[in-house]
Amino acid sequence: MSQSCEVAIVGSGFAGSLLARVLAVLGYDVVLLERGTHPRFAIGESSTPLANLSLERLGIRYGLADCYNLATHGRWLAHFPEIRRGLKRGFTYYRHHPDQPFANRGLDSERLLVAASPHDSLSDTHWLRADVDHHFVREAMAAGVDYRDRVELTSADVAADSVRVSGNQNGSAFELRANFLIDASGPGGFLARQLSIPSGLEHTETRAAIVFSHFDGVRLMKDVVPGIPEGPYPDDWAAVHHVIDEGWMYSLRFDDGVTSAGFLLTPRGAGALNSSGAADPASLWRELIQRYPTLASAFAEATPLMPIAFRPLIQHRLTRAAGERWAMMPHAYAFVDPLYSTGIAWGLRAIERLALAFESAAPNRRVPDPDVLARYDAALSREADQIDLVVAGAYEAMAHFDLFAAQAMLYFATVSFAEVSQRLAQKESAAWNGFLGVGDPVLEPLAREALRRLRQITQRRGEVGTSEERRGFVEWISQAIAPRNIAGLADPSRKNLYPVDFDALIEQHALLGLTRAEVLEALPALRGMGAEPPLSGESSRQRGFPLPHTELLGRDLL
Ligand SMILES: Cc1cc2nc3c(=O)[nH]c(=O)nc-3n(C[C@H](O)[C@H](O)[C@H](O)COP(=O)(O)OP(=O)(O)OC[C@H]3O[C@@H](n4cnc5c(N)ncnc54)[C@H](O)[C@@H]3O)c2cc1C
Repeated sequence: MSQSCEVAIVGSGFAGSLLARVLAVLGYDVVLLERGTHPRFAIGESSTPLANLSLERLGIRYGLADCYNLATHGRWLAHFPEIRRGLKRGFTYYRHHPDQPFANRGLDSERLLVAASPHDSLSDTHWLRADVDHHFVREAMAAGVDYRDRVELTSADVAADSVRVSGNQNGSAFELRANFLIDASGPGGFLARQLSIPSGLEHTETRAAIVFSHFDGVRLMKDVVPGIPEGPYPDDWAAVHHVIDEGWMYSLRFDDGVTSAGFLLTPRGAGALNSSGAADPASLWRELIQRYPTLASAFAEATPLMPIAFRPLIQHRLTRAAGERWAMMPHAYAFVDPLYSTGIAWGLRAIERLALAFESAAPNRRVPDPDVLARYDAALSREADQIDLVVAGAYEAMAHFDLFAAQAMLYFATVSFAEVSQRLAQKESAAWNGFLGVGDPVLEPLAREALRRLRQITQRRGEVGTSEERRGFVEWISQAIAPRNIAGLADPSRKNLYPVDFDALIEQHALLGLTRAEVLEALPALRGMGAEPPLSGESSRQRGFPLPHTELLGRDLL
């Protein structure tokens, strides 16, 4: 067992393993330390277009063909059919009311569908994390990473020139000296404890408890709510969100029929329930399901594949994400909520940033420069705040579906603008683009303002406001996102059903700083068909990105 290395990474979720592998490809000597073993269950499964763009960029830049192939459902199926996944065509939302079946009022239903891909083969995926994370660990080992599992770490001492990590593996004590330490241990807070980093949670807005499991036998919404008008994609092949009085439920279907489902409960929502979730999560689950008849039908025959679990608080947040000899991956630093599926995309973006930071390290130091680490720290802090504000706004907006659908437009305008910008201007600075509109003078302030306006309506008590107040919010959102609305969002004639709309994009070419002809020329790249697949081991770092360049875009926002 080697007693020293250049980079030690704690935690082998996809973030730790993939970063370890990229650093190994860059010629670093990396040790990856894992408390458990693979395969293992992990939560956090639904990817997004921005996540897949990062995965593609990582694949192309570092010659990781599997990353490129795992970035669309079609390529995933063709190359890795054994790694379990689910088709995710978009984001589906329904509003349910206690003791009433979901009201199918045709196009006037409380239902919102936003497509994230034009068809199945280019679609996003739900990752069955046990399989995906295991895959990335194996690939890291194949790339030369020294992977050690069943490790119990007891301390980390960070000095000016190195880090010393101590622990036990299989009962034998070890000490490892590294030039740099990366904490990818998720919410466990390994480094936070070692460095006594204070929590920053009190300055954040979102709070939720969770009760969740994986299930067999969940029925499709199309079968329990017959006659619902067709949307831009089949409702169930998406990240399905059921908004309820107590919070919301996610339901993610894998291709093999297993469904990952969980209720996120607001403090007010949880307080109103009879059961104590901590004592008996299964009773809490039943109580919630039975209160909503359509959910009761969907889960009537469902059986949990592992014990239903409860966590009273899923949010966490620290006050520092990096120092001179260390950095944290986003999930170790902060987590807000599964709403809007930000976790995987943010984690992959951080891998890109840290990999670039190692690439640009001074040759005699071989660790990221302090100014790059300070930039990383500042970026994660602003981004965590922004995710928190957008999600807190959505929780507030759950009071009424019109408000909720309008707040969702803020999220979708932000991510669709980012996606198109990044597809048009594929270059390494995309990694440093602010996540969720951070650094964008139009989008960044909107999150806080939306939350303020929503709270004025709801009085922080879930009040629905007057129809005028609601209409006012809907109109405000529509105008506020207009300078970035390239996807035809917030359009009442759509009746809350949004396909991927290339016509709207062409029409809005000026918002991208492009002519109509330039957008037409870029359409293959925008459809996700511009990139050449990397060959394993053939990195694009020396040749630059093979995708079209448009210097007007891809502004380095942070
Ligand atoms: C309820 C919920 C739902 C979510 N849904 C989504 C979603 O739909 N989409 C999305 O994009 N994101 C979602 N997320 C976020 C997502 O889970 C995270 O972004 C993702 O798991 C981060 O991966 P990671 O590799 O950084 O960390 P993790 O997956 O947390 O992996 C951490 C690893 O570190 C190991 N470890 C921990 N402590 C130690 C230690 N002391 N020593 C050694 N090893 C250690 C663990 O065993 C584990 O293997 C969700 C999160 C939650 C809580």
